[in-house]
Amino acid sequence: MADLKKEIERRRTFAIISHPDAGKTTLTEKFLLYGGAINLAGSVKGKKTAKHAVSDWMEIEKERGISVTSSVMQFNYDGYCINILDTPGHQDFSEDTYRTLMAADSAVMVIDASKGVEAQTIKLFKVCLLRNIPIFTFINKMDREARDPFDLMDEIESVLGIKTCPINWPIGNGKDFRGVYDRRTRHIHAFTAFANGQKEVDDTDLTVDSPDVVSVIGDTLYEKLIEDVELLDGASNEFDIKEVTEGKLSPVFFGSALTNFGIELFLNYFLEMTSPPLPRMSDEGLIDSFDPDFSAFVFKIQANMNKAHRDRIAFMRICSGRFDAGMEVYHVQGNKKQKLLQPQQLMASERKVVSEAYAGDIIGVFDPGIFSIGDTLCVPGKKFRFEGIPTFAPEHFARVRQVDTMKRKQFIKGISQIAQEGAIQIFQEYNTGMEEIIVGVVGVLQFDVLKHRLHSEYGVEIRMDMMPHEYIRWIANKDEVDVARIVGTSDMKRIKDLKGNPLLLFVHEWAVNTVLDKNKGLELSEFGRW
Ligand code: GDP
Repeated sequence: MADLKKEIERRRTFAIISHPDAGKTTLTEKFLLYGGAINLAGSVKGKKTAKHAVSDWMEIEKERGISVTSSVMQFNYDGYCINILDTPGHQDFSEDTYRTLMAADSAVMVIDASKGVEAQTIKLFKVCLLRNIPIFTFINKMDREARDPFDLMDEIESVLGIKTCPINWPIGNGKDFRGVYDRRTRHIHAFTAFANGQKEVDDTDLTVDSPDVVSVIGDTLYEKLIEDVELLDGASNEFDIKEVTEGKLSPVFFGSALTNFGIELFLNYFLEMTSPPLPRMSDEGLIDSFDPDFSAFVFKIQANMNKAHRDRIAFMRICSGRFDAGMEVYHVQGNKKQKLLQPQQLMASERKVVSEAYAGDIIGVFDPGIFSIGDTLCVPGKKFRFEGIPTFAPEHFARVRQVDTMKRKQFIKGISQIAQEGAIQIFQEYNTGMEEIIVGVVGVLQFDVLKHRLHSEYGVEIRMDMMPHEYIRWIANKDEVDVARIVGTSDMKRIKDLKGNPLLLFVHEWAVNTVLDKNKGLELSEFGRW
């Protein structure tokens, strides 16, 4: 039992969120480097294939392969067992990116110091807010020309609406980036040498009052630092771990993932400030992660790359207790006891079969098509269900039909199964039946995946007509509203999901507010429920 507690206590499970190119991959690599999981950074993944312009299937498949192997990475560092959840960006951006955040206990938000808060950061940040998880900010690329750090803090506060508290502060930027000042210890970490970021960086650790400081960072930067520190001590938010835990205050760090400046300092503070796996809400109340009984929920389903078998990998987050390979678990939604087959886990870039795993860990299991997103697994004898995972608003819509009308059945079966995996969402016109299907996706790449998979796995050719709509809203109080009588705007369209829930589609974002204004009592939501 002592072991169980110790194992769970040392786990930290978090996601890294960012706008593409801010440095998420580089930072992940550096964490692995410091964890000793890899020797030379740059070897984690060949992800730059993601930069492809044309979306031919081979590329998609390659990427799917890569995103399978990079979904979660586990490594040890300083006694901690760290699980990093990857949130795919670029063309790979999809609902999975959002859902992954449901499995994390905290998030690291990487911001490019020359660009500030960007579009995809805002979207991912909103999803983190849904769960009030702690959010840590890493302002990256300080080795390049950067914006004023005070401006960056202001922007985070005003655009994202979260308070900030700098834990370290940059000394210079661009070519003059000399290191960081640790506000807690009043130490300066002046970086002396670096080997293109491929090895851990050497740093000189000095207190700010040491006479050597000026010679290391120079007069000008020293004076600027003293001035900045005074300003910060007077004007910035106080550090308050409770507010951090509640996701109201974001500790901010500066550094450069490429050159390793500030990485170790960040990692150490981050691990100290984050908590072991958090309890999760279920229909029977909170489930404590230290409860010895195993429980988990499915947050992602990945179609197998092997087309000969229509099997899949279900990724689950362990929420309590310990998992042993071969143990029998109870799948609540399927009302069935079973063994989890081929449990696997990812260590850096390798996959390995797991024999045991603990609360906080993510495992992938073979899924013969029985699991759905949000499903609960627990020990036989228990029957609770974890709180459902939201469905996130798609931003691209297309009308889809099969070219060969004789293949209607295969078409419906295929598209429904792909929707069940959570890669796409499907809707219908509000008043008519199944004739035409409206597909919504978070990232446009999913349209290509859909087209290709229907062709290769179900033998169905489709026609897609893109729609101009980009904003979707669920009707939160649907039982109190007569959908047919909603006063709309000219760009508004009524649709329903497969369960018959009504939704509204809009071309323009402003129209959402107009419709809310015109219909008192109507409640619209950006999230649905699985
Ligand atoms: P991602 O899309 O967020 O995963 O970003 P990547 O980690 O792939 O980084 C995007 C580009 O920025 C790559 O060319 C990196 O080498 C570069 N980059 C990442 N971190 C830094 C940094 O700290 N300084 C500089 N100068 N470049 C960086």
